Amino acid sequence: MQKPIKELELLIIGAGAAGLSAGIYAAMLKVDTLILEDQLIGGQILDAYSVENYPGFINTTGAELMEIMHQQAEKQGAKVDEFDTILSVKLTDTDKIIETDSFIYKPKAVIIAAGMKRRTLPLPEETKFKSKGVHYCELCDGHLYEGKKIMVVGGGRAGVGAAISLTRYASEVLLIHHGPSLQAEAKVQDELLANAKIKVLYNMQVVTLQGEQNLERVVLENVNTKEQTTIEVPGMFVFIGWIPRTDMYAPYIELDSYGNIVAGEDCQTKVAGVFAAGDVRSKKIRQLTTAVSDGTVAAINAEEYLKNLKYSR
Ligand SMILES: Cc1cc2nc3c(=O)[nH]c(=O)nc-3n(C[C@H](O)[C@H](O)[C@H](O)COP(=O)(O)OP(=O)(O)OC[C@H]3O[C@@H](n4cnc5c(N)ncnc54)[C@H](O)[C@@H]3O)c2cc1C
Repeated sequence: MQKPIKELELLIIGAGAAGLSAGIYAAMLKVDTLILEDQLIGGQILDAYSVENYPGFINTTGAELMEIMHQQAEKQGAKVDEFDTILSVKLTDTDKIIETDSFIYKPKAVIIAAGMKRRTLPLPEETKFKSKGVHYCELCDGHLYEGKKIMVVGGGRAGVGAAISLTRYASEVLLIHHGPSLQAEAKVQDELLANAKIKVLYNMQVVTLQGEQNLERVVLENVNTKEQTTIEVPGMFVFIGWIPRTDMYAPYIELDSYGNIVAGEDCQTKVAGVFAAGDVRSKKIRQLTTAVSDGTVAAINAEEYLKNLKYSR
């Protein structure tokens, strides 16, 4: 049976902080808006038990914050559709077609706010210690380890940058890298190696996390000799890459070498009427505030695009 075809003004892909913010603004500008989410509404911040850097909230949980944003988007008139999987997309200057399990959408403009998924440690106990010693955002949780010894896993650009940044709180930072040399730019590596608070352990991988309620110890293994070492640490920050969910856009939209969407500060991609907002956009800082900012910019620019489209006919 042919799927129902739905025409609308704006389709937003992803109901995280960027997508919901875009939905709030677009709906307030009277744009007929649908936010499509294939998992739980809220995005990656749902994993955060404590958010202390989102203005207006001294301390909240990711789930609470996103529930409020969700309600706010719907109150303004945006529709939010959960658990409908996108099967294919066509995104050109003239045609925008998104086919899901249930519908064929034909929006006039699209905001891709698909975020990203951080790679987690492939250990069964990782879930137990998530936010209880295992963290993925140094800007968000670094302050919890004032004066303490901590560990950073990952010797790429993100891990090296985080290790340097975390020395403002921690008394000592152990940087664990599975290879024989770090993979960040030379200038940043020099800064790291000159920092007396940081010690780099090369050719090491994390094999076990231990602790009662919270992380207490990490067992490391030398990838060459298989010798194991147990280190007492209450906190570990993991930077072993991320998995962008952008493959389906690649035939139409430029992606950077990490798979993020190339779009300027106006959030406009090279395809007319297609915008990228939040963590999915190629950029340096990925936080709630920057996601919300992108959502705002993308929605206002999408509304302008739609208005111009109307008057150009
Ligand atoms: C554990 C953790 C703690 C953090 N703590 C903080 C903090 O304290 N403060 C802070 O500022 N930042 C924090 N961050 C970072 C912050 O969560 C992100 O920067 C922000 O959530 C990005 O929002 P987003 O909307 O761009 O992306 P996301 O939150 O990733 O949302 C994208 C949404 O799009 C959906 N999606 C993707 N593809 C599709 C598709 N094809 N169809 C339908 N839906 C799709 C996803 O399911 C997801 O719900 C934390 C991140 C993590 C992982």
